[in-house]
Amino acid sequence: MEQEQDSQIKVKVSDLTQYLICPRLVYFSARGHEQQGIAKGKERIESILLKELAFNLHTIRGMKDDEEDVKRVIEGIVDGVEWIYKEELKGVEKNFFEAVKTDFIRSQSMNVDEWLRKIRNENGLLKLEKTHGYEREHTMVSGKLGMSGSVDKLIRAGEEVIPCMIKTGKCPEYSVWKSDRVQLAAYAMLIEEEFGTTVKRGFVEYIRTAEFRESQIRRRDKALALQILKRVKRIKGGVFPEKGENAPCDNCVFEEMCETKKTLLSKLFSRR
Ligand code: SF4
Repeated sequence: MEQEQDSQIKVKVSDLTQYLICPRLVYFSARGHEQQGIAKGKERIESILLKELAFNLHTIRGMKDDEEDVKRVIEGIVDGVEWIYKEELKGVEKNFFEAVKTDFIRSQSMNVDEWLRKIRNENGLLKLEKTHGYEREHTMVSGKLGMSGSVDKLIRAGEEVIPCMIKTGKCPEYSVWKSDRVQLAAYAMLIEEEFGTTVKRGFVEYIRTAEFRESQIRRRDKALALQILKRVKRIKGGVFPEKGENAPCDNCVFEEMCETKKTLLSKLFSRR
């Protein structure tokens, strides 16, 4: 019975990532509360703009070292954002969006030298992208796992299928963050089911600082992804979870809701 109920609960790979930030985010989002991510306002729009730059590295790489040229290309990419991300930008005031965009273009053009140097430097991922191209936001659904996901870039290099994620946050000193390894492992499992192959590696593009990191897909990351998948299903099924160890409550849109729920629960238990 429990298994039957579990198979009806649909989980996205992004739910796993959310769980790793704080399990309660999964709970509130599953209950239909709007979740604009932990980042709010300016930070969120900047993330979208940066992500779009990452999808256009091939264009940016080809431009000349002319400040005006750089500005023009970045402007062109940024201008497309409001059409591509219409749903995500719903409710954002036009003037505010324009101000963030202008600020972004200015700062990107000013700090672009080091960034450009890095994206022109042929590293493993950029070489693969140049040779094989990539499919943007490839969506996969696994009935067996009860999980779906849309990987930012999917590279098909002959027999090899490689997932690649774009991250707009801070880059770790070495390798990739643990949450990124788990997310890559989840995509790897979806790819393996769809393409009937074994995924040995994935990449994370930390686009803010133009760091491109390769990560091996390890058994223990897959095991952790599966464990989290089960927990997410339980939360979506109605279980109110403990807050995450490093839950970023100060920046959370659910802060108030979370407090109320906690108080209600403690009252309920104290009556017993
Ligand atoms: S307020 Fe804190 S504990 Fe509650 S959902 Fe947000 S991050 Fe998690």
